[in-house]
Amino acid sequence: MRRVKGLARLAIFGVIVGWAGWAGSALAPSGVPLFAAGKVNMTFTPQDQTFAAAAEAYRRLWAEEGSKIVEAMERGSGLTFVETDVKAVIFEGASQSGFGDTPMYLRASYPADVKKATLVHELGHRLNGQLRKRPKDLDEHRVLFLYLYDVWEHLYGKTFADEQVTVESGRRGLYDYETAWKWAMAIGREQRASRFAEIVKANRE
Ligand SMILES: [Zn+2]
Repeated sequence: MRRVKGLARLAIFGVIVGWAGWAGSALAPSGVPLFAAGKVNMTFTPQDQTFAAAAEAYRRLWAEEGSKIVEAMERGSGLTFVETDVKAVIFEGASQSGFGDTPMYLRASYPADVKKATLVHELGHRLNGQLRKRPKDLDEHRVLFLYLYDVWEHLYGKTFADEQVTVESGRRGLYDYETAWKWAMAIGREQRASRFAEIVKANRE
């Protein structure tokens, strides 16, 4: 957490766009140039050459979908990315978001859909880094899960989102994802959105 407070505050602006309002807003209308690598540049470096193909898969994913991912995350959270360059290392181990100049780490062997879902997940941790004030009853993942499912669903559909909840819920050892996901899904979309909006609002005060 090295960012100065003023910058973090400036970065949080705008209103929370209700998810109901999404239906009429095309994310990437045809004919409009994508600002893909423009807003948040990502570089994907294989830890060694055995991960070169996986790094290329992530690179292609970001080139093709980066702009719509960024837009979906910003709309879903009401936050704006303050980072313009994010470095990621592709390796074989548990993924982690990193922070600032510390690179993100992404597992090489994930199937294509899990690569997408995990990239959004880890970027979400980075996006949420600007939220300095946190409710005492919500840990880092519960805060993220207030919009992660809804962003996944908006980007790739309900089946995808449900599958990725199952994938993350099956992860053991580092954190109890299953209980956190059960909590997030049980409170429902509207309450997730209003809880997150409250957190953003508290950070703007
Ligand atoms: Zn996480």
